[in-house]
Amino acid sequence: MKKVVINPGCITCGACEFIAPEVFEVTDISHVKKNADLNAHTQLIKDAVLACPVNVIECEE
Ligand code: SF4
Repeated sequence: MKKVVINPGCITCGACEFIAPEVFEVTDISHVKKNADLNAHTQLIKDAVLACPVNVIECEE
């Protein structure tokens, strides 16, 4: 997993953080944690992409 981006429009539902707390942190909006190990959590990131109700998580493999 090369890159994970949160596009504008996050409604702070918390789903991504619930699914992959090692990668996502939801404060005012969702953020990708600075030192997140994207390769170690590829499947969870894909799960979060699918779970996001407003489809704002984008990932590049
Ligand atoms: S799942 Fe989507 S809407 Fe919910 S906190 Fe994460 S990025 Fe925001």
